Amino acid sequence: MEIVERHKVKAQDPEVRSHNFDEVSLGFDDETALLEAQRCINCKNPQCVQGCPVNINIPGFIAKLKEKDKDGALSIINESSLLPAICGRVCPQERQCEERCIRKLKLGGSVAIGALERYVGDYGLTKGTKDIVKPQKNGKRVAVVGSGPSGLACAADCAKAGFDVTIFEAFHKAGGVLTYGIPEFRLPKDKVVKKEIEKLNALGVTFKLNTIVGKTITFDELEEEFDAIFIGSGAGLPMFMNIPGENLNGVSSANEFLTRSNLMGAYKEDAITPIYCGKKVAVIGAGNVAMDAARTAKRIGGGEVYIIYRRSREEMPARAEEIEHAEEEGIKLVLLTNPVEMLGDKQVTALKCVKMALGEPDASGRRRPEPIEGSEFEIEVDQVIVALGTSPNPIIRNSVGNMFEFSKKGTIVVNEETNMTTHEGIYAGGDAVTGAATVILAMGAGRKAAKAIIEKLSK
Ligand code: FAD
Ligand code: SF4
Repeated sequence: MEIVERHKVKAQDPEVRSHNFDEVSLGFDDETALLEAQRCINCKNPQCVQGCPVNINIPGFIAKLKEKDKDGALSIINESSLLPAICGRVCPQERQCEERCIRKLKLGGSVAIGALERYVGDYGLTKGTKDIVKPQKNGKRVAVVGSGPSGLACAADCAKAGFDVTIFEAFHKAGGVLTYGIPEFRLPKDKVVKKEIEKLNALGVTFKLNTIVGKTITFDELEEEFDAIFIGSGAGLPMFMNIPGENLNGVSSANEFLTRSNLMGAYKEDAITPIYCGKKVAVIGAGNVAMDAARTAKRIGGGEVYIIYRRSREEMPARAEEIEHAEEEGIKLVLLTNPVEMLGDKQVTALKCVKMALGEPDASGRRRPEPIEGSEFEIEVDQVIVALGTSPNPIIRNSVGNMFEFSKKGTIVVNEETNMTTHEGIYAGGDAVTGAATVILAMGAGRKAAKAIIEKLSK
């Protein structure tokens, strides 16, 4: 078989983009998308589909692209995914569908499935809401708690089935992490996220913003008013290191930093909400959240930014593209290094770290990092951003009493088939159930719960 190299996705020049918030990746144009689609050999047993968490018919949509039938490609993707313009941008494809693509090892690299999905998703967005017909209401009502990908997906499917859906969102803007977490330069809000939300408006979904379920309105009140409830409240509570000095000025969680920047628009010059950004910034962690925080700090502060990670590059959990883009933008990776103390009087001035070596694999299967005795050293910093992961916010757990079950980690316990909690009629999905995970898994969980809700309420 002919070796045809994978086509590269164009991106903004690193020197230019590290000073702006415009989208970094420019996506495929028509010609490149067609050439890339032609690389897919339409395998008889397509492993890429097995690698996709929602089993998108990948060779099917790519075959439509080869025929220049974008509508056909879109409708095939929409059978499994409601958010292709978003997932095409943020899914870790290199560990999912593209990892399994037969072309990966010897045939010029895996097909750029994610970039093709984005291409089709962006085409879908250009169609706007003109083809959406508001479904006839069937008289039953569904409440959705949280407007992240799980809530949006559940709401969309329930609304299409004729249910009267209301989404309750704590923040003043809808979208969950898509709006408050992932920065503009990776996921544009007006061009992409808002347009997905407009589709829900067109389906007749009502959004009640600034409403914290468990505080502003109780679950008992929701149960009285609605026939089913879906909880997609995410995992927005940041974890800290619990080391000395973590309460110094200049230290914050990545969640707070990114929320101020994205949701409150603090990165804009005319922003009313301020954001502190130092000239020497250490970001602790190496997942997508850490990359987003580091690249945001680089854009706002313009100084030196370090990613501090206790394992090696191989174990970094962030998407490969984000790590590559961060390095191109001048972010320095300080690997096999663990902070042990944050130093300073009132303001943080340095991070005391210890060098690490990798030992035997731990429960996660990754080699356990162990401190090297006597290897302590200091890094001068004026800001530290902690990006070590998140867990579900306890507001819901504290407000429902024994209404339904939670795990020891604070996640909601659900039936795997239906995503129903231990309380009849209340469903849950996304990060609130799995702990911090991915957009595609959250979307898939929202759809699974919607299917169960529709089946139950249609009886
Ligand atoms: P969320 O998106 O967290 O949405 C939950 C919503 O519920 C929020 O809007 C919250 O305000 C609201 N809420 C919470 N409690 C209540 C309440 N009591 N009442 C009303 N509303 C409530 N995943 C990827 O696949 N690729 C990436 O590149 C990626 N990058 C990420 C970068 C960052 C900075 C972060 C934080 C996460 C990233 N993720 C990424 C993870 C992904 O975004 C999440 O897994 C996904 O958004 C989870 O969706 P969800 O619907 O479960 O919850
Ligand atoms: Fe196409 Fe690769 Fe999937 Fe085969 S594995 S169908 S080549 S995308």
